Amino acid sequence: MDETLERLVTDVPDFPEPGVGFKDITPLLADPAGFTQVVEALAAPALDADGNATVTKVLGMESRGFILGAPAALHLGVGFVPVRKAGKLPRETHAVSYSLEYGEATLEIHTDAIEPGERVLVIDDVLATGGTAAATIELVERCGGIVEGVSVLLELGFLDPRSKLPDTPVHALLST
Ligand code: IMP
Repeated sequence: MDETLERLVTDVPDFPEPGVGFKDITPLLADPAGFTQVVEALAAPALDADGNATVTKVLGMESRGFILGAPAALHLGVGFVPVRKAGKLPRETHAVSYSLEYGEATLEIHTDAIEPGERVLVIDDVLATGGTAAATIELVERCGGIVEGVSVLLELGFLDPRSKLPDTPVHALLST
């Protein structure tokens, strides 16, 4: 990925708390050329040599995964499935809880969002510890689906997220 994109993801020191460096993707979203380039690149791992989608769904995690995942799904010509924080989805769900630096988080998916045997691509903005992506993979597996890959805009490599995703190909457009 080129330097222009890198410049569109800005570092915000001490957010949301002192000592944490936050990667802000809102300048990228405001740039139509950069946004288009990123959406197409995130979807690319799920296209075969003939330009056909190798997955039947794209999953995005609340909430920046929605912004990137939904247009990537349309680019591939497949459906989009939201993975949401606890208590937001209205029908029966599978739920997976995982540890954060402080406390716990729970993600949910509708039980009928993915058919058994369906292949999916998971998209999010930032891969940090890998906990969110690992929980999402578990949700897909609870539905009987198969995660073909995880595509992210930015991987924080120093946090070693891939150690939490040993069996899943990870595609990162930018990495630090
Ligand atoms: P992880 O579970 O530690 O890999 O954190 C990834 C999740 O936290 C993703 O859903 C991201 O949207 C969010 N996240 C973590 N760090 C950042 C950041 O620096 N900028 C934007 N989102 C972040």
